[in-house]
Amino acid sequence: MNKADFAPIEARAAAVKSALIDKGVLTTDVIDHIVHLAAEEWRHENGSRVAARAWSDPAFKTRLLDDATAACAELGYEGPQGEYIVALEDTADRHNVIVCTQCSCTAWPIIGLPTDWYKSPEYRARVVREPRPVLRELGLEVPDDVAVRVWETSAETRYMVIPLRPAGTEGWSEAQLASLVTREALIGTAMALPPL
Ligand code: FE
Repeated sequence: MNKADFAPIEARAAAVKSALIDKGVLTTDVIDHIVHLAAEEWRHENGSRVAARAWSDPAFKTRLLDDATAACAELGYEGPQGEYIVALEDTADRHNVIVCTQCSCTAWPIIGLPTDWYKSPEYRARVVREPRPVLRELGLEVPDDVAVRVWETSAETRYMVIPLRPAGTEGWSEAQLASLVTREALIGTAMALPPL
C-alpha cells in the first residue's frame, strides 16, 4: 500500500477516536482531559524548575536523586508517563544523555511530549552507538575527559538530566535559574544556557 493510499492523518485520528468512544474504551471527557494536559500542563518548563530547585536547594537535590517521582510530585508534577522518574546528575566528569530507542518516550509531566528530532529514527539509533559525534552535530562538544553516559528509556522508567549549574549564577533566584534550563538540557543534548 502506498502512503498516498492512506487517509489524511486527521481523518484517521478521528476514526480511531470515534471507534474508541463507540466501544466504551474512552469518553470524550477523558480525551479532552488528555488534550488539555498535553497542551497546557506537560511542559519542559516544569523540569526546568525541578533542575533549578535542585541547584539551589541541596536537600531537594538529595530527595530528587533518591526518588525523582516523589520530588517532582512535591512541585505538582506527576501523572501519566511520570510514574517512575529517575534524575541523572551531570558532574564535572560525567555527562548524561537520554534516548528511547524503541519509540520516543519522555517524562511527560516534566519534559513534555517528545519533539520531532527526539523521535527521529536517526537520533534514536545513532546516539547509542556514537553519542559524541551526535552531540557534536547538535552543537554540544563534550570534552574528552568527560565521560558520556547514554540512558535508554524503558516502558516504565523516564529520565531527566540535572545539567551542570552555569558559573556566574551565584545568588540567582529559582525562576532565574530555571530560565537557563532548556528542554535540550533536560535531555542532555545541550548544556544549561550561560547567564547573560
Ligand atoms: Fe519510547
